[in-house]
Amino acid sequence: MISVLSGGTGTPKLIQGMLEIIDPDDLNIIVNTVENTYISGNYIAPDVDTVMYTLSGMINEDTWYGIKDDTFITHETLKKIGHDEILRIGDKDRAIKIQKTILMGKYALSKVINLQRKNLGIKSKIVPMSDEQSHIKIITDEGEMSFHKFLVEKRAEPEVEDIIYNAVEPSPDLINTIESSDMVLIGPSNPITSIGPILSIEGVKKALKDAYVVAVSPIIGSKPVSGPAAKFMEAMGFEVSSKGVATIYQDFLDKFIIDVEDMGSEKEIEKLISNVTITNTNMKTIDDKVKLARCILGEIV
Ligand code: GDP
Repeated sequence: MISVLSGGTGTPKLIQGMLEIIDPDDLNIIVNTVENTYISGNYIAPDVDTVMYTLSGMINEDTWYGIKDDTFITHETLKKIGHDEILRIGDKDRAIKIQKTILMGKYALSKVINLQRKNLGIKSKIVPMSDEQSHIKIITDEGEMSFHKFLVEKRAEPEVEDIIYNAVEPSPDLINTIESSDMVLIGPSNPITSIGPILSIEGVKKALKDAYVVAVSPIIGSKPVSGPAAKFMEAMGFEVSSKGVATIYQDFLDKFIIDVEDMGSEKEIEKLISNVTITNTNMKTIDDKVKLARCILGEIV
């Protein structure tokens, strides 16, 4: 059994590669829920939905949220009648979110996600990090704002001074899922806003220390492949590099995978993590994704 810790862009690309070489029944995805919120009355779990759409082959790979070839009739109609949504939500995507909202009236988030993934024919288990409402606040030079406002409205432009998330309880299956895995893979996701919230949950770091943990760096050279990870890492006092990511994961990481572009930095990183592997981690094509998945899983499949 392999468990993957995931956000909503880098790791889902790698999951696509993994699905080509392992049985989806042997895969659990543990997902960040810190960005979950309500938009237009509907419950939005951005990273959970991205993982769900990736596993069911529906993901819009241009944006890494929403469903490919979706229409936006409801979103445009709402705009016409004076309700401008912060996020462009497609019609099919909205249907999934409506069902999630209805089910949330009866069940905890982890049960709702389990029902939805089965409805979508997904065999892998999806485990949200918590059933409780988590919040992330970005403290910037323009004041405190939500993650959505920082990312969408402010286009990640303000200077980041601090990032704060509230303490939440682990979802019922979270610790057990980590403990029963042959390998836990920390995918190339934002170490501060996607993986950080999962790591902050009580019991997670301890379970990881006892597990075999492999991570793929989301930083190539001195830049993330996409998104605002650099700003967030700097704000939290980490060097923006694979070495900086290694610093965050060093207490529980057994093996670290860095990009060929970082060849030469492995000596420094090996002082923190004994096993460092160098390969192409920039996933542009399905072939790149499968090759990276093989490099990671080669030892167990
Ligand atoms: P979010 O929820 O949208 O922030 O997405 P994630 O946290 O899952 O992913 C964002 C991180 O993934 C960024 O730090 C990127 O640098 C990283 N990333 C995206 N694509 C790739 C890729 O192809 N290779 C690697 N190594 N990292 C990637």
